[in-house]
Amino acid sequence: MILLDGKKTSADIKEEIALEVAELRRRKDITPHLAAVIVGSDGASITYVNAKVKACERVGFESSLIRLPEDTSEEELLNEISILNVDNDIDGFIVQLPLPKHIDEQKIIMAIDPEKDVDGFHPTNVGKMALNLPTFISATPFGILELLDRYNVETSGKHVVVIGRSHIVGSPMSILLAQKRKIGNATVTLTHSRTKNLKEITLQADIIIAAIGIPEFLKADMVKDEVTIIDVGITRVPDSRKKSGYRLLGDVAFEEVSKKAAFITPVPGGVGPMTIAMLLKNTLLACKNKI
Ligand code: NAD
Repeated sequence: MILLDGKKTSADIKEEIALEVAELRRRKDITPHLAAVIVGSDGASITYVNAKVKACERVGFESSLIRLPEDTSEEELLNEISILNVDNDIDGFIVQLPLPKHIDEQKIIMAIDPEKDVDGFHPTNVGKMALNLPTFISATPFGILELLDRYNVETSGKHVVVIGRSHIVGSPMSILLAQKRKIGNATVTLTHSRTKNLKEITLQADIIIAAIGIPEFLKADMVKDEVTIIDVGITRVPDSRKKSGYRLLGDVAFEEVSKKAAFITPVPGGVGPMTIAMLLKNTLLACKNKI
């Protein structure tokens, strides 16, 4: 079994980005700038957004964190977005999701200038991705493609089973892997909560991408030998032995499934760190697109 080490791979990618940033600064006096907007004080969201800002600093980007209170109105947030859209100093920005219930997430995503939408969530960018045109591929699917590529996992002609059809992971993953691209050309089955006989389907998979959010959902008896496993799930489960009071579990029962797998991502240290690295990559692209 080979561990698909997202921590190490993302560190390599960040190093590559840092070199490019140094070069951009030296030759053109340009520094990429990512802004992140967070509304409210959800613990996990703050952790994620802080990790993104810290990663910017490590690669030499400028970063701005805009923290807004929980009771920020939709109009106020839209106003903030229109300021970021026209701020020439900012190459790309993200609005950390989920947003408080009184704000319409889709409306917010639609308000972001697609040229600055480094999360790749705007319908214009999703459409380009679906048509295999150059665009910002959203960070989690982009990170999974990169991880498969760097570990030379063959996808062409393989049967990929994606579990979960979210707009940010499962659905784009299924589209990308079916496309004619280096990491693609797969036969893809997209499964979800209404899928019947899931086990019969996963048992036929060469590669399984689990993005469900149910801890240890995928068990060893659901996979065949030599399978490749990408575990996207991150669930915090209470653990009094941990200083934080919780531990992170993926959607895959790692102990038992890893015994059958050819390649597998750990949780934490798999897909999660890759997501941040690819957000940086998209920001660098946004910056270079402006030159
Ligand atoms: P989501 O939470 O929006 O949706 C879950 C999906 O799972 C749905 O499409 C649903 O149909 C499917 N599902 C639920 N029960 C099922 C079942 N019994 N059988 C088959 N399918 C079932 O999905 P999401 O936003 O992609 O998040 C999934 C998980 O991935 C969460 O744990 C989330 O925290 C994690 N996540 C991690 C990263 C990362 O960077 N590592 C990024 C995004 C999401």
